[in-house]
Amino acid sequence: TPPPAALEISGLSAGYNGVPAVRDLSISVAQGEVLALLGPNGAGKTTTLLAAVGLLPALRGSVVALGTPLRGRRVERTARAGVSLVPAGRGVFHQLTVAENLRLARRRGGADLDETLGHFPPLRPLLGRRCGLLSGGEQQMLALAKALLAGPRVLLVDELSLGLAPLAVRGLLPTIRALADERRMAVVLVEQHLDLALSVADRAVVLHHGRVALAGRAAELRERRDLVEAAYFGHT
Ligand code: ATP
Repeated sequence: TPPPAALEISGLSAGYNGVPAVRDLSISVAQGEVLALLGPNGAGKTTTLLAAVGLLPALRGSVVALGTPLRGRRVERTARAGVSLVPAGRGVFHQLTVAENLRLARRRGGADLDETLGHFPPLRPLLGRRCGLLSGGEQQMLALAKALLAGPRVLLVDELSLGLAPLAVRGLLPTIRALADERRMAVVLVEQHLDLALSVADRAVVLHHGRVALAGRAAELRERRDLVEAAYFGHT
């Protein structure tokens, strides 16, 4: 029998001004599993993550994290249920130092600071530096470290690569994979770089116009780039 889902999204429709941008979406992610959520601009990836954490009300359907139904819940309760979102655009305070940003993100019962920093060696010498002075990749590392300090059981990552060189992403995605394995964390990874995402994910879902165009095991989809690209561009 498969392990119980850490995150179970069922029949979710969510959008803006009553108009769904995501329709009838069902996704489940097990503990320790990385699911890549792929699709072109406007496909509904960010909308899915926002609805999953309750920042956007669901029009229909349900979201359950570790047995706790999240529908209609406030965002703080979602965090308490063990779900963390790393937003696109980084979510770090530019006028504060790296250490201050990390201190703000610490939670009682969360993850150990030193252990978490151990996953991001380049951050250590930068602890006293103001975040506005960090590179994009360093800021993204910090945003990830902040989310991880809460000790989430479910981590939702929105376009880590936004504005980053593929090289910087290539370093961060394996870290996410390792953390998913070590902490038995369920991860939903929204990512533009298909090959990078498929190389670390267990499974992938391709969205097109708010619907699932393709879903499968990452290892199989790596061999079928033609199918992934067809789904990506809506030719299914
Ligand atoms: P991207 O890679 O460009 O971020 P995405 O897959 O994350 O794309 P979403 O941001 O979820 O896509 O957008 C899905 C749809 O919802 C798009 O058609 C978008 O224009 C629309 N949308 C997003 N945010 C809003 C908003 N605040 N108000 C109205 N429509 C929105």
